[in-house]
Amino acid sequence: MTSRSLASFLTENLEALKANGLYNTIQSLEGPNGPVITIDGRELVNLSSNNYLGLANDDRLKQAAIRATEQYGAGSGAVRTINGTLQLHVELEEKLAKFKGTEAVLSYQSGFNCNMAAISAVMGPQDAILSDELNHASIIDGCRLSRAKVIRYSHSDMEDLRNKAKEARASGQYEKIMVITDGVFSMDGDIAKLPEIVDIAEQFDLITYVDDAHGSGVLGGGAGTVKHFGLSHKIDFQIGTLSKAVGVVGGYVAGSRELIDWLKVRSRPFLFSTALPPGAVAACIAAIDILHSSQELQSKLWDNARYLQEGLKKLGFSVGATETPITPCMIGDEAATQTFSQRLYEEGVYAKAIVFPTVPKGTGRVRNMPTAIHTRDMLDQALDAYERIGRELGLIH
Ligand code: PMP
Repeated sequence: MTSRSLASFLTENLEALKANGLYNTIQSLEGPNGPVITIDGRELVNLSSNNYLGLANDDRLKQAAIRATEQYGAGSGAVRTINGTLQLHVELEEKLAKFKGTEAVLSYQSGFNCNMAAISAVMGPQDAILSDELNHASIIDGCRLSRAKVIRYSHSDMEDLRNKAKEARASGQYEKIMVITDGVFSMDGDIAKLPEIVDIAEQFDLITYVDDAHGSGVLGGGAGTVKHFGLSHKIDFQIGTLSKAVGVVGGYVAGSRELIDWLKVRSRPFLFSTALPPGAVAACIAAIDILHSSQELQSKLWDNARYLQEGLKKLGFSVGATETPITPCMIGDEAATQTFSQRLYEEGVYAKAIVFPTVPKGTGRVRNMPTAIHTRDMLDQALDAYERIGRELGLIH
């Protein structure tokens, strides 16, 4: 039986969310999460996944997962330090380290878990973290967990970062100071100013931490934002996810051998949560092999992203500050953004409305995620729908 105080808490808050249009209804897909998805028996062009390269549906990954599941079983059996580390986990980490150009890598069950694990393994109450105000929720939670003093700087504002780094260092209050940023910001698609961040870090002796969930597989020939700027030896922590461009599930920290040795003995999601299953690890290995051996999928992704972004701009829409395949179509008003996304759904296009509190008030946008496996016909179908609905709602003329 639910207690009365819990029942009233849940009812009141759920009703408030619904009344304010903030309750997210989750729809289930009747089939794979590909470039076209089926919901309630209807096919829709899917512009909402993070399956950048289409690898989630790639036969080579599926076959690798099946073979490893047959050989090793469905689960890895234990926490890795007890006896859950399979040869496959080690192979994946060695391949990832080579791919990222770092000494070592440690894999986790998700990208979210990496941020829970890595920040609190090195930072504590005696330290400070300079964090971009638009950093991902898992960074925010990871920082809180560490109990370090969190100092937010304005989004990609290097003047603000420099001033706050200077002040924190001059205060003499903190043992270690870290600067932490997304490599690619997930709601706008802009890239962190890593060369300036590295400069500031060198000047004020900051630990550097880049969460490259949306840059890995997309920038720097696939190796990510750090490689894109040629800064591989200047960043202490590189976080990657295995769930987006790599197409499977999991996350990893790439860095020095000493850092990885420390995480193995001090990061709690590694020490107290069961390792990734063999099928997933083998599929990730197959994906890294593909990324390493060919740029074909990355160039298709970028071609499709440019096509969609140019198409939207030609129609009179703004795609904001994006520098990557993440393609926000800026609408502004929250209600208009929700209506736009709903009309797209009715017209056979699945693209989510992103509104406050995920983004600042008045900056609602429909976020489009083109992938390497969308055909031009699919993108044209989406652009036609954008044109019709944009005119209907008076947003373009
Ligand atoms: N960091 C960033 C910047 C992300 O965008 C995401 C995914 N939304 C994550 C971490 C979490 O990754 P995962 O889905 O692998 O847990």
